[in-house]
Amino acid sequence: MDKVYSNITYVLADRSAAHELKERLASLDTQLVFSNGTNDISRSLFKFKPDLIIIDHSFLELYAREFEKISRMNVGVRFIPVIYIGDSSDGHLESLGYFRSVYCFTPDNISKVIDKATNLLAPSVRVRFWGVRGSTPCANFENIEYGGNTSCVEIDAPGMDELLILDSGTGIRNLGNHLEMQDGSGCHGRIFITHPHWDHIQGFPFFKPFYSSSNKFSIHLPEQYRGGAQEILSGHLTKTFFPVTLDMLAADLEYVTQGEDEQDLGLYSVEYLVANHPTKTAIYKVRINGLQIVYAPDNELPLKTSPIRFLDNFETFIEGCDLLIHGGHFSLKQYDERVGWGHSAWERVVEVAKRNKVKNLYLIHHDPDANDDALEKRDDILKQYRGSVFNEVCLAKEGSEIRMLIGD
Ligand SMILES: [Zn+2]
Ligand SMILES: [Zn+2]
Repeated sequence: MDKVYSNITYVLADRSAAHELKERLASLDTQLVFSNGTNDISRSLFKFKPDLIIIDHSFLELYAREFEKISRMNVGVRFIPVIYIGDSSDGHLESLGYFRSVYCFTPDNISKVIDKATNLLAPSVRVRFWGVRGSTPCANFENIEYGGNTSCVEIDAPGMDELLILDSGTGIRNLGNHLEMQDGSGCHGRIFITHPHWDHIQGFPFFKPFYSSSNKFSIHLPEQYRGGAQEILSGHLTKTFFPVTLDMLAADLEYVTQGEDEQDLGLYSVEYLVANHPTKTAIYKVRINGLQIVYAPDNELPLKTSPIRFLDNFETFIEGCDLLIHGGHFSLKQYDERVGWGHSAWERVVEVAKRNKVKNLYLIHHDPDANDDALEKRDDILKQYRGSVFNEVCLAKEGSEIRMLIGD
């Protein structure tokens, strides 16, 4: 599958507006693909894999409801940033509600559209959150905004011809379905699983690319008390627990019992620190395009300096990193009664990240019992650190994407 960035902007405009818009957007260093109806949109969105969607108000005046349905039915489409050319008060923005990043500019402000589009299309490392929930999936209305699928994060960068996936919680099912919609054949990559707790492997047998013999994946997992990557996963996928066993997966799968040392994998490298968690768990560090990304969904940051060694090592490991994705399952109040469970209080994560000059902090592994209101309140508190202590700090939402500019 061709995963090399094509830098495509998908423009949706009514036939009458398309011509003028084409001329005005001509200065963008991107391939413009125009569409003026809804029949082909679902198909072409997957075919062209656009980096950006620009929607003119003339399009939504005709097709708002149909287009809303397309974004509602296709989880993987919501990651794509959208620029809406129209008036924020014209009522059409609501139909773009499923997209995670929407920017609105009035038609007389095309220079701002060009600036924003240029910024969004600049070469970047992209981190996509396919699952951000901790412990168990929760398909409830009250969890819909932040998302109910468990841990799965995808990292993508210019020139990468293979998938880089962290964890295989239930979020990986949507990623697999998205890949199938794009093409699905000749898909290859690596999946780094932090540890085999249910919420990090439950989506594993539901990843559709595993069922095609033309696909190839390496599955990485730190050695556990009861064995390496293959033993642990085959132990989980036995007929007692699930009808599909590992040998029924048609793809070419390699199982790697991952060591802690840095492993050079071409365009990126991976190393890990063992987390403070009930089973051997990796805190992965990915170095890619000069950026350092640390992924620690399950890790307990003790309030006291004990165990001293761990906290020291952890702080050295994250110091100055560009992005820290860390579990913030509890509040300090909740943590008080859950010391030793292997999860952190989000306030403590903020404090430690701040002390170690982390540039961007995204909290994940949200408590399934924390509803959208509770998480939104937490997000509001975090706003005070945004743009000062951290460039960005927030609770990650399922379906959101971070674009980190390369060479920034
Ligand atoms: Zn977990
Ligand atoms: Zn765990």
